[in-house]
Amino acid sequence: MQEDLRSLTTEQIIARITEQGYPAFRGKQIADWLNKGCTSFDEMTNLPLALREDLKMYYTIPGVTVLQKWQSQLDETTKYLFELSDGETVESVLMSYHHGWSQCLSTQVGCRMGCSFCATGMGGLSRNLTASEMMAQIEMAQRDRGIRVSSVVLMGMGEPLDNYDNVLRFLHMLSEPDGVHIGMRHVSLSTCGLVDRIYQLMEEKLQLTLSVSLHAPNDAIRSRLMPINRRYPINDLLTACRKYAEVTGRRISFEYAMIHGVNDSDACAEELASRLKGMLCHVNLIPANEVKGKDHRRSTAQRLKQFSHILEQRGLTVTVRRTLGADINASCGQLRRKHREEESPCGR
Ligand code: SAH
Ligand code: SF4
Repeated sequence: MQEDLRSLTTEQIIARITEQGYPAFRGKQIADWLNKGCTSFDEMTNLPLALREDLKMYYTIPGVTVLQKWQSQLDETTKYLFELSDGETVESVLMSYHHGWSQCLSTQVGCRMGCSFCATGMGGLSRNLTASEMMAQIEMAQRDRGIRVSSVVLMGMGEPLDNYDNVLRFLHMLSEPDGVHIGMRHVSLSTCGLVDRIYQLMEEKLQLTLSVSLHAPNDAIRSRLMPINRRYPINDLLTACRKYAEVTGRRISFEYAMIHGVNDSDACAEELASRLKGMLCHVNLIPANEVKGKDHRRSTAQRLKQFSHILEQRGLTVTVRRTLGADINASCGQLRRKHREEESPCGR
């Protein structure tokens, strides 16, 4: 099987190339092309033809193409449906903030975590993305809009910590000076709460922001919404979060999707506040997106306000997620499903 050249480090590429009898500087030249976003061996014009042919035989450079694109009429938000080299599709969203362009990336095709409110999880997991497929989403958006992405959130399709090695490799690629050169302080990684992986990530001591999708103040509600809670109950998750914040010195961001009549009562707010008391954290309330085929409803604006008021009164820092691109809004996974339904009316 051909190997993904893009996912190797410069050192690894040089080692492979010299093993094949080529001088080390050729490896550096290849790495430079890859860092520039080159996805075709034929474009590597400073390499001898024989080397290019060798590379084609043993390696691929998986890229993405734009299959569909939605441009918001209200702001600069662009939503992409990207096609991967094997025909699979993933979503990504580009958003404009005062501090620059931020891109939400997918890390898997689908997801196997099965959260009850989420469109991505509905079809299960097809496969993991490679590090270069994650990078290719940035490069394609940059080329398409003629901009530079300055921050990245891993909040698109998939569970990043369920694709740990590829995501770690991608995070290291991000900060390489010759590449897109995005520092860890401009990266957020969102997880549904894979506790063992949180401890593993903690050991990497990266300066990224860890977002944890909490969505409930107790096991009864959380297990109903998120099957992963049966494996890693809320106490274990919050212990890991406390430890993570302590060791890395980074504030944890808790995501909380407000679902009408499920997790949005005053009692839920009180319970959440007492659970998070004293932790270096902040709570991000998200008005839940309603998903076709799921029966949950979004909380009212008034409920949201009251909920956030209670949290603030109890000393927590709270934000309500800004809705960018409201006219093209659909939580990640919905556009891909729509596209597939249009292709195959049975929705498969
Ligand atoms: N798998 C990771 C990251 C991708 S999901 C995770 O779960 O954290 C990105 C965020 O969108 C998560 O916080 C997730 O819980 C949230 N989300 C998924 N479906 C949603 C919906 N219908 N409404 C609001 N938020 C949703
Ligand atoms: Fe997967 Fe995240 Fe969706 Fe849950 S919310 S199914 S973990 S993508």
